[in-house]
Amino acid sequence: MIKKYKKEDLTVVWNPELCIHSGVCARGLPKVFDPSRKPWIDLDQDEKDRIREQVKACPSKALSLEDPG
Ligand code: SF4
Repeated sequence: MIKKYKKEDLTVVWNPELCIHSGVCARGLPKVFDPSRKPWIDLDQDEKDRIREQVKACPSKALSLEDPG
């Protein structure tokens, strides 16, 4: 099931079926992407631009950005 996480105009989409558990996101921004926490994504833990860049670095595209509006 696809999940969405929002912070102001930023929406991060996570598709668990695509996640290959590479850990790229958790290593890059461990406070935002913490698999041991529920929910594991917390967008309040860093600035939006940094989160956007980390989402783009997801190798499987399990993480993606939803256009505002
Ligand atoms: S970077 Fe992408 S594929 Fe890797 S653990 Fe995070 S969501 Fe999953």
